[in-house]
Amino acid sequence: MSRQTQAIIHADAILNNYTALTRLAPGSQAMAVIKADAYGHGAVNIARILRGHVQAFAVAITEEAIKLRENGVKEPIVVLEGPHQKKDCILASQHNLTLVLHDESQLRWVDELQLRIAIWLKVDTGMHRLGLPPAQLVSLVNTYQHLLNEQSVLVSHLACADEPDVALNTQQLARLSQLAKAVNMPVSVANSPATLSLSGSHGAWNRLGLALYGANPLHPAPSRLTLQPAMTLRASVIALRQVRAGEGVGYGQVWQAPRDSLIATVGIGYADGYPRHCPNGTPVLVRGARAALVGRVSMDMLSIDVTDIPAVALGDTVELWGEQLSVDEVASCAQTVAYELVTRVSPRVPRVVR
Ligand code: PLP
Repeated sequence: MSRQTQAIIHADAILNNYTALTRLAPGSQAMAVIKADAYGHGAVNIARILRGHVQAFAVAITEEAIKLRENGVKEPIVVLEGPHQKKDCILASQHNLTLVLHDESQLRWVDELQLRIAIWLKVDTGMHRLGLPPAQLVSLVNTYQHLLNEQSVLVSHLACADEPDVALNTQQLARLSQLAKAVNMPVSVANSPATLSLSGSHGAWNRLGLALYGANPLHPAPSRLTLQPAMTLRASVIALRQVRAGEGVGYGQVWQAPRDSLIATVGIGYADGYPRHCPNGTPVLVRGARAALVGRVSMDMLSIDVTDIPAVALGDTVELWGEQLSVDEVASCAQTVAYELVTRVSPRVPRVVR
């Protein structure tokens, strides 16, 4: 029996989510954020699915952008983070990439090397991670005006967009709007949660990441929009055994059967990206029914209790997350966020686009 561990990527879900999200912000252009291999979905896959629909793609680092160019992606690509070194500025000019610059040294390199690249500027409005200091923005824009044009955008990032009621959101948006007026530039600040819940953040460009993949970036979940999960992570039952009440399962025997139990061994583990720290009781789906994870997740396998599910057989498909079981629910069991689970699905799991 072959290992049937796969991440099924649902092309329709990506397209439907993209359409639904862009409808929320009709006055904005949208870029699909496909950094970190499109949040684990396969950047080239997602670029192909969205070809002809999106206005631009966004990645974090130049290497990601170049891989897309090498795979025939012709749309504008915005490189959001870096940190861009001199060599990245040169690569950007060779591969026709848009760089978001966040430090004066980067402007200096582009100027000194006389590079012809599309430049956006990032300003720190309160997240205090990356970005030009607001107090220096006007003078920097004046000094390097010749590197900018009417397509240049003033970028910022919200620290608490997933909690729309936090006051810092309003403060950051007000600071950005003031700065944009002072330098006369259009803005880009909305990510997925802001696109969903902070209409005042919709700018010239919105940056759509997690929501595009159908996971929920807000807590609680938005009621007005149903996103479709774009990844189903699945594996199969590779062994079945009866375990007597009181016997343990797996490493450390950290789970003991409270009754005589039927335990299925499933061919996926933490080396595939399933979180090792998921606790006993984390749900999975077998034959459309919920079964519980039992014992420690191993590198290549995990165990589930299927005592109450009729007729489970070798080779049965097990859904770890996807259409019937949201990645958000599994992330919550693992005390993390969907962003982490999907980006950690490892390269050894084949991505199959349907
Ligand atoms: N913009 C920037 C600068 C980011 O770092 C990210 C993701 O981390 C995004 C946009 C997309 O965010 P989201 O996945 O919440 O849509």
